[in-house]
Amino acid sequence: MTFVLASPLCVKSNHLPPQVFELSIAGELRSDPESIDAASRDYGNIVREFPSAVMDPLSVRDVRTLVSFVYGNGSVGLTLAARGRAHSVRGQAMACDGIVINMTRLVTPVNVSWSRSLGHYADVGGQELWIDVLKETLRLGLSPVSWTDYLYLTVGGTLSNAGIGGQAFRYGPQISNVHEMDVITGKGELVTCSKEDNPELFYAVLGGLGQFGIITRARIALDRAPTRVKWIRMLYTNFSDFSRDQEHLISSQEGMTVPDYVEGLLLMHETQLDDYYSAADRARIMPLITENGGLVYSIELIKYYNERTKSSVDLDVKILLEGLNYVPEFAFERDASYVEFLDRVHTAELELQSQGLWNVPHPWLNLFVPSSRMADFDVGVFKNIVLKNNITTGPLLVYPMNRNKWNDQMSAVTADEDVFYTVAFLHSSGFDQWQPFDAQNEEVIRFCKDNNIKIKQYLPHYTSRAHWANHFGSKWDTFRKRKLMFDPKNTLSPGQRIFNSQ
Ligand SMILES: Cc1cc2nc3c(=O)[nH]c(=O)nc-3n(C[C@H](O)[C@H](O)[C@H](O)COP(=O)(O)OP(=O)(O)OC[C@H]3O[C@@H](n4cnc5c(N)ncnc54)[C@H](O)[C@@H]3O)c2cc1C
Repeated sequence: MTFVLASPLCVKSNHLPPQVFELSIAGELRSDPESIDAASRDYGNIVREFPSAVMDPLSVRDVRTLVSFVYGNGSVGLTLAARGRAHSVRGQAMACDGIVINMTRLVTPVNVSWSRSLGHYADVGGQELWIDVLKETLRLGLSPVSWTDYLYLTVGGTLSNAGIGGQAFRYGPQISNVHEMDVITGKGELVTCSKEDNPELFYAVLGGLGQFGIITRARIALDRAPTRVKWIRMLYTNFSDFSRDQEHLISSQEGMTVPDYVEGLLLMHETQLDDYYSAADRARIMPLITENGGLVYSIELIKYYNERTKSSVDLDVKILLEGLNYVPEFAFERDASYVEFLDRVHTAELELQSQGLWNVPHPWLNLFVPSSRMADFDVGVFKNIVLKNNITTGPLLVYPMNRNKWNDQMSAVTADEDVFYTVAFLHSSGFDQWQPFDAQNEEVIRFCKDNNIKIKQYLPHYTSRAHWANHFGSKWDTFRKRKLMFDPKNTLSPGQRIFNSQ
C-alpha cells in the first residue's frame, strides 16, 4: 500500500510539556506508536498528520482539564483535536504534533424528555453516534427529524459541519434541530448555550468546524417516529425535468401532501446499481443509460407511514407522483422499515468492508450550487467533465434544499440563493490512484470559477487563509471575531487548517 500525503504544514517537534502527563485525569494519555498511528488516519486516507499524544477521556471533566491546561499553562502552539469517528476526508480531525481527543471513549446516556415549549427532545453526548440516538429514541416511539445518509457519524462531528440529507429541505440540516449545547471552549470553560443563553457561542459552534469549542452535549429535537416507509425512485433522461420535479417536490407546503425525504443521484455506466433494484430492473436500466449517452438522473423520494396512516399512504404517494415527468415505466417502489431505510448506507458499508473496499482513499468533493446555475453545471460538469473523464466511482448525489431552513447566524455557509443544490462527488479509489479524482475535482472548481458559478464547498478543505476568507464571505469577520472570543490561542481543530494556514 503506498501512502498518501502528510500535510506540508505539519512539522513535528514532540514538544509536549511534561506536565501534561501529570494532569489529574481519570482517562489515559497515550503516546504509544499504535495510538499515534490510529489518530493519524481518517476516512479520506489522503492526509496523514501525527499527533504527539492521544487522549482517551473517561469524563467530560477529563476533556475540560486538558483544554484548561493548554489554555492556562500549556506551551504556545499546542493544539487539540476532538476526534469523532474521523469520518472526515482531509485530516480535519487530526492534530499535527498536538493531542487528539478520542471523543468516542466517553460514555453518557441518551436522555429523552418533554417540555411544553420544546416538545420531545433528547440530550445526547457529543461523542454519540446517530445510530445510537436513533435506537434509544425509537424505544419511546420517537426520532430526530433530520438525518445524514450514514448514521455511524458522531453528533459533535456532524453539528460541526451541518448534517445534511434528504430531510433537510423540510426540517433544515441537523444544526437547525438543536435546542441547546454544552461546549468546552478553547479557554477551558464549560458553557451551556442556546438561542437565548450565550447565543454567540451557540451559533458559532453550529457549522463551526470545531473551531470554537468541544461539544459535550446537544439537545436534539424529536418527533413521533414512523415505523415504515414507501421508498420510491424515478428515472429521468434530461436534467431539466429532473430538477424541475425535485424543486417542485421540495416546495410542497405543510398541510399539503409533503414528501419526507427527497434526494437524487446520477446513474452512469460505472454506477453500481444497489440491491434496491431487482436483477430484472437492472437489466432494463442499463440500456436506458446507454441510449441516453451514458447518463440518467434519479430522484429518490420517501413517504413515511405508521399503523394509523397505513391506509392512506398509497394515495399520498400517488398525489406526490402526479404530474411528475419521469420516464414512464421507470418508477420503482419498495416498502421498508424506517430503520432499514435510514441505516441503508451501513448495509452498503458492510458489503464494501467484506470486499476490502471501505478503508480506501476517498477524494471527495461536496459542493453547494445555486439553483439558477444548475443547468450550466449539468452541461459543464456532469456532461463535459464527469462523463468525458469517465473515471467516476462512488455515488454522485444531486439534490436541492431550501435556504430558509438554515439560520444565517450559524457559522455554516450555504450558496446564496433561496434554493441551492448539494452536489456530492463521493469517489473512492485505489491507494495510489486518488490523484486523477482530485484533478477532476480541481477541474470542476475551475469550471465554476471561470463561469462565475458561485459555489460553496460543504465539508470544506482549503490550505490558505485567503481561500477560507472567500469561503466564509460576509461571515468571515464574525468567524474571526468568534475565534478570538472562544479560542484565542488557536488551540482547537487545527486539522481544518483555517487559523494555522498561511
Ligand atoms: C460514509 C459517509 C457518509 C456521510 N454522509 C453524510 C451525509 O449524508 N451528510 C452529511 O452532512 N455528512 C455526511 N458525511 C460527512 C460527515 O458529516 C463528516 O465526516 C463529519 O465530520 C462527521 O464525522 P465524524 O463524526 O467522524 O467527525 P470527525 O471527522 O471525527 O470530526 C469532524 C470535525 O469536527 C470536529 N469535532 C469532532 N467531534 C467534535 C465535538 N464533539 N465538538 C466539536 N468538534 C468536534 C473535529 O475536530 C473535526 O474538525 C458522511 C461521511 C461518511 C464517511
